[in-house]
Amino acid sequence: MKPPAIAERAPDHVRGISRYIAGKPIEELARELGLDPATIVKLASNENPRGPGPGVRAAIAEAIVELSRYPDSNGFALKAALSRRLGVGAEQIVLGNGSNDVLELVTLAFLQPGDEAVYAQHAFIVYPLATQARGAHGIEVPARDFGHDLRAMRAAVTPRTRVVFVANPNNPTGTWIPPAELEDFVASLPRDVVVVLDEAYNEYLVPTDRAPSVEWVARYPNLVVTRTFSKAYGLAALRVGYGIMNEAVADLLNRVRQPFNVNALAQAAALAALADADYVEESRLLNEAGIAQLDAGLQLLGLRFVPSHANFVLAEVGAADAVNTALLKQGVIVRPVANYGLPQWLRITVGLPEENTRVLTALTKALQG
Ligand code: PMP
Repeated sequence: MKPPAIAERAPDHVRGISRYIAGKPIEELARELGLDPATIVKLASNENPRGPGPGVRAAIAEAIVELSRYPDSNGFALKAALSRRLGVGAEQIVLGNGSNDVLELVTLAFLQPGDEAVYAQHAFIVYPLATQARGAHGIEVPARDFGHDLRAMRAAVTPRTRVVFVANPNNPTGTWIPPAELEDFVASLPRDVVVVLDEAYNEYLVPTDRAPSVEWVARYPNLVVTRTFSKAYGLAALRVGYGIMNEAVADLLNRVRQPFNVNALAQAAALAALADADYVEESRLLNEAGIAQLDAGLQLLGLRFVPSHANFVLAEVGAADAVNTALLKQGVIVRPVANYGLPQWLRITVGLPEENTRVLTALTKALQG
């Protein structure tokens, strides 16, 4: 059917955007295949499989009383806690409706039609989506061994480049860049180019692998480090993340954000989650064991996979569409990544041990056809 004329009035760059493909919700698969939702395993969105800790539940219960009021537009308490934890000024922190929001805010504040943003092939898909939404031109730099080719990315920067995105670790490949290499890259960029260092999976790294990226912000006023409460902190449903950056950059992002972009329950829960260091460390250790379990299972199946530094594994299964369909029929949801230029691969999020076993068993069956 021909769309109404009004739909033609949106700018070409908006009409050209491909929608973000999210992991299939459990309820949707249950409806489609008549399955009991309780029997479905979803390992498709890099979520923490543990559910929230007791402190978070209590904080939300308390915050519910104030539900008829707007949240604190400036997120005072959460920023103060982050500021103490990270050793930066509260005015250097921008809160977001997920770290996705902060990525968007960078493009809103810095990109206009004609500008360029540089990112890697197979990097998080929000970089090209947010770039295109601003009418800017995305420059995708071919990956090297599934990861960022920083030398090639540096070479791709032109006088029109305003933003460079780097994901460390990257989604969906799980690749990681050593800190020294990363800092050399940041240092090599012109200071009038914003470099976004997306550390959504930072807390899953072995502590010695983590870059001192927050300290770099003092040296590089063009650096924006983004982090999230959606992964190791287990709050994906609430949508809260943040960026750490030079105060002047934070001021710009704060001007273009919605006044109440982080809701009150999210602020209260994030504050409680931040105080529960054990939860994060337990999540990291559970993930480490889960990665080992999935790697071993994939190896037994003779499947190639990319060694992961995050909470998911990218595995080459061949006919990914057919394998994915066979998994769905068994009540197992993983993520096809054809939209990332990886049509033969599936991304499997680390679950609880029994969920990992379930996906490996289902995969064995799916591959037998
Ligand atoms: N960056 C990366 C690399 C991600 O994988 C994700 C989540 N898929 C995000 C950012 C955004 O996550 P959130 O908005 O939940 O913080």
